[in-house]
Amino acid sequence: MRTTRLLGLLTALSLTALATAACGKGGSPPTKGPAAGRLPVYRVAQGFELPESGTWRKAKNRGRFVVGAKEDQPYLGEKDPATGRYSGFDIEIAKMVSASLGLDPKSISFKTIASANRETALQNGQIDYYVGTYTINDNRKKLVGFGGPYYMAGQGLLVRHDEEDIKGPKDLDGKRVCSAAGSTPYQRIQKDYPKATLVAYDTYSVCVDNLLTYQVDAVTTDDAILIGYAAKVPDELKVVGRSFSEEPYGIGVPRGDDTLRFAIDDALAARERDGDWKKAYDATLGLSGVPAPKPPAIDRYPAS
Ligand code: GLU
Repeated sequence: MRTTRLLGLLTALSLTALATAACGKGGSPPTKGPAAGRLPVYRVAQGFELPESGTWRKAKNRGRFVVGAKEDQPYLGEKDPATGRYSGFDIEIAKMVSASLGLDPKSISFKTIASANRETALQNGQIDYYVGTYTINDNRKKLVGFGGPYYMAGQGLLVRHDEEDIKGPKDLDGKRVCSAAGSTPYQRIQKDYPKATLVAYDTYSVCVDNLLTYQVDAVTTDDAILIGYAAKVPDELKVVGRSFSEEPYGIGVPRGDDTLRFAIDDALAARERDGDWKKAYDATLGLSGVPAPKPPAIDRYPAS
């Protein structure tokens, strides 16, 4: 027990050291993919009006969108603790949408919202829309609306580098597996792999700390998220096996504001056509080494 604790502490310390050495300012993971092209500058639509959307009117009056996001997911949604600035693929998606809806993306006010709190945040008007690895599914559609999808992820597993027993979800029997409360990966393990011991935290980064300190044996969530944690400490962590679900990422909007939802669908379609989507991907998630996929078809489902 003592040895494990000590080892854990040392691992955590080396994580910090490695992160500082390899990742530079802001702690973002190293680059493997295309050279970091400059982030696209999104042209703000002039004279754009969407008066039928209550959410849009509110944002227009205050002069900016308030967007929910993640702050601890490398390549996707990360907040620089020094500057308070958010960056990553989800953040770029949020920005291109804001520009298409006529509001300067530079003025967006980002708010970190954990997986379990997304629906409430949209329902009580705390945020106008949400962009943060948010899987579209029928249960959630009863509570919120979804623009998109704009990306297709899949559930995967992250383990310590020397782990040899866990190669896929079938190997999780009797193992301690960590995921975020309220997430689809958590729910899938609970339902399909009941012999695994599930541990839940608010965020995946806390799960990763627990993995590095030997408190859990695996972390499960979307491959796109796990790849970022593994890249931070490649000597300590690895993503194993194939992904075992489909997680289409959508932009969460208040349920019933279909005008806003359709405008977001149009915005995404236009940014996919004009190359901004790909530029944004290449400059963020593409740095993980995974080349830009074809974005999934937008699901413009009928008004509720
Ligand atoms: N995409 C999954 C979900 O929406 C996992 C990632 C997350 O928790 O944001 O639940």
